[in-house]
Amino acid sequence: MKISKVKFKNNNIKYSVFIGLGAIKILKNQIKLVCPNVRKVALIFDKKIPTKLKIKIKKQVKNYELHIFEYSVTEKLKSFNKVNKLNEVLLKKNFNRNDLIISVGGGVLGDFAGFAASILKRGINFINLPTTLLSQVDASIGGKTGINSKKGKNLIGTFYQPKIVISEIEFLKSLPKREMICGFAEILKHAFISDKNFFKWIKKNVNDIIEKRNSSIIRYAILKSCKIKISFVSKDEKEKGDRAILNFGHTFAHGIEAASNFSNKINHGEAVLIGMYLATRLSSQKKICSINTLNQIVDFYKRNNLPNNLNKFSLGKSHNKIVEHMRNDKKNKDSRINLILLKSIGKTTRPDSIKISPKQMQKVIRKIT
Ligand code: NAD
Repeated sequence: MKISKVKFKNNNIKYSVFIGLGAIKILKNQIKLVCPNVRKVALIFDKKIPTKLKIKIKKQVKNYELHIFEYSVTEKLKSFNKVNKLNEVLLKKNFNRNDLIISVGGGVLGDFAGFAASILKRGINFINLPTTLLSQVDASIGGKTGINSKKGKNLIGTFYQPKIVISEIEFLKSLPKREMICGFAEILKHAFISDKNFFKWIKKNVNDIIEKRNSSIIRYAILKSCKIKISFVSKDEKEKGDRAILNFGHTFAHGIEAASNFSNKINHGEAVLIGMYLATRLSSQKKICSINTLNQIVDFYKRNNLPNNLNKFSLGKSHNKIVEHMRNDKKNKDSRINLILLKSIGKTTRPDSIKISPKQMQKVIRKIT
């Protein structure tokens, strides 16, 4: 099975992302190449990773002094307390900057372990093995690491790039369908914001991705998504300009998730799908995109039974709460809500060009939901 490779490169840093079924087998040689002086390895697993895969990974690092950690993953893991506990253990074991932390889990574990690596002795080697579709197409790319605060999600963190990322497609076999849809939402976003031909391809292959029918198709979807995300973040690592375009649909999504108190009622991917739908309807209402663009997206959602409506998640009466949370979004620069809207499939508005008052937003949401 083919292993695809895409490179992240900016002025300061270079690293590769490998994607494929069986990609894990390159881990041993890659460690020798990218961090040749490693002696100790901290292998950090999400508990839900099947034993068979854990054994395969352990084999790849059997020549090092190995320390294994396993976590039951929830957002609560992304805390100073948990990061501190891990780093205190690693300090006790005399980990130094030449040594290595490897994360084997989804976006939560990657954010947690990457943050721990970035602050331990001011930065030790970090390798990410993302195990959810969302982390393979999104969270593992771009170097954001972090934890949550009482004031909100991801408010404390660093920009810290891994030495390599390996997206092993076999990890997805044990992933529930709801989590596949979560990752699919970000793949779709990448097409909406920058590549209309990729959207045409997705229309043909959506079921093979979500139902995990074909690993070559999944590999291509991940590869294309990584390329698009890298094209935004390599030019703008610290989110000063174009990287904000990646927030398409996400300002609505954060409002929706926060209004549901981040409960299991609605997950991030479902909120992003609704967010992109609402952002497109608003784009059409403001005549930023054509009716034809809107209809193409409405039709795609209908055909594939994708969530487009707040009522299904018992949030139909939460407009005020949603807008209140959108108003508090950390990307707003004044009291208005800063949004990325769609001009056509593959093209968005510029960052900071669309700002809407909370009052106007309440009217809009009422009208379009
Ligand atoms: P997650 O890490 O919570 O994983 C989702 C669920 O899948 C969890 O229950 C987990 O235990 C389970 N799981 C993981 N791998 C599995 C596997 N192979 N088989 C079966 N179950 C598995 O969630 P996620 O969607 O991967 O990531 C969400 C997190 O990523 C959020 O905390 C978000 O803030 C963060 N994020 C970060 C970035 C970034 O740029 N750093 C970008 C997007 C999202």
